[in-house]
Amino acid sequence: MAKKLAILGAGPIGLEAALYARALQMPFTIFERGRVGEYWQRWGHVRLFSPFGMNVTSLGRSAIAKHNPEHEFPGDDALLSGREHLAAYLQPLADILEDNLQTDTHVMLVGRRGFLKNEDPEGAGRSKQPFRLLLRDKKSADRIEEADIVLDCTGTYGQHCWAGEGGIPSVGEVTSEPHIAYGLEDILGERRPQYANKSILVVGGGYSAATTVSSLAKLAEDNQSTWVTWLARCPGSQPLKRIPNDSLKERDRLAVRANNLATRTDANVEFHAQTVVEGIEFQGQDRGFRVTMRSAGKAKTLEFDRIIANVGYTPDRMIYRELHIHECYASAGPMKLAAALLGEKSQDCLRQASYGADTLRTPEPNFYILGAKSYGRNSNFLVRVGFEQVRDVFTLITGKAGLDLYKGLRITR
Ligand SMILES: Cc1cc2nc3c(=O)[nH]c(=O)nc-3n(C[C@H](O)[C@H](O)[C@H](O)COP(=O)(O)OP(=O)(O)OC[C@H]3O[C@@H](n4cnc5c(N)ncnc54)[C@H](O)[C@@H]3O)c2cc1C
Repeated sequence: MAKKLAILGAGPIGLEAALYARALQMPFTIFERGRVGEYWQRWGHVRLFSPFGMNVTSLGRSAIAKHNPEHEFPGDDALLSGREHLAAYLQPLADILEDNLQTDTHVMLVGRRGFLKNEDPEGAGRSKQPFRLLLRDKKSADRIEEADIVLDCTGTYGQHCWAGEGGIPSVGEVTSEPHIAYGLEDILGERRPQYANKSILVVGGGYSAATTVSSLAKLAEDNQSTWVTWLARCPGSQPLKRIPNDSLKERDRLAVRANNLATRTDANVEFHAQTVVEGIEFQGQDRGFRVTMRSAGKAKTLEFDRIIANVGYTPDRMIYRELHIHECYASAGPMKLAAALLGEKSQDCLRQASYGADTLRTPEPNFYILGAKSYGRNSNFLVRVGFEQVRDVFTLITGKAGLDLYKGLRITR
């Protein structure tokens, strides 16, 4: 009997895996907690670094063209926003896959029929039993479905890291969490009234924080009372480390813009290097936050109307806690891939490629972690790499080495 595939998450990699399964005529279901491309919907106002041609495959394009010959694709060089990409590629793919797609279906936990976590560590018996998926719909009704193979493509954007030092919540942060923004806020769009003419604390030293600070600085041009205090742990006056000769020009432009804002004294942005958050007290909707921080060894307390903590994302490991997943203690990604990534010397995610089918294996037979989640805390992941992973995982699933339904998808390391 044909093996049943469960694909967790309808982001770009889950959808691409589904397309691959469909082309191979394998039975599959995609379980998506929210909407199609849920995270792309949430940060969809942000412009991608990678051009359209890098974020699509020949398989996807031809499936869409066949389904809807009228569909017009953007040019390969187009730098789309997340939502534009969703409309141009992800949603048309989802339309093709709709009979096998269950949205508003949260995968809570995955286990094995007949086996507890501590049983059959060799996996010989486990591999003969199906997975059991505990699913919850939007009315909070639970049910179980079974599958022979599980592809966990649930990404990381749904689970934020904490703003406190050492990665743990600062004092009071857990209680204040519902009032803090941890994602990419649409500052120049629908969230404008939330931030215009407010004092805002931005925490973080990566591209997300850079995006946030750049948008806030733009907002401040027309709303002069907007004031941004930007904290990062890094030393020096420039929070963003530029990648030498960065071929993703949009990314480099963002780094330059954010570094300029950090060093300029005439913008409404005040940058503090080597600064960590020690405590956050939410004082109420009208009174904002009281934040204790330590800057170059000295403690100080300031008040803010808003806090945006762009401090990274982390994989949800609860889904597979009853399975045998060997994780990297540093990245929380699956160990084999993490070990390969540790050997990667280049900081440039464009240089990243799939490290081959074998690195996708976990000790749990037929359970694979793909996409952004496969990189764990490592934020170098690109959609392009995920497409290669999809191709590689299907060589494992089908046992056909060299199986490649993508034409022309090549990444050189
Ligand atoms: C602001 C921003 C800009 C970016 N720009 C680029 C870029 O230019 N180029 C690039 O290549 N990459 C970019 N990335 C990275 C990009 O997000 C990832 O490469 C891509 O989204 C990873 O796809 P994915 O399918 O692995 O996961 P995701 O896109 O994260 O999708 C995961 C899906 O799983 C669902 N899900 C989560 N938990 C569950 C559950 N328990 N049950 C069921 N469903 C679940 C989610 O709702 C979501 O739809 C950017 C990321 C951000 C945040």
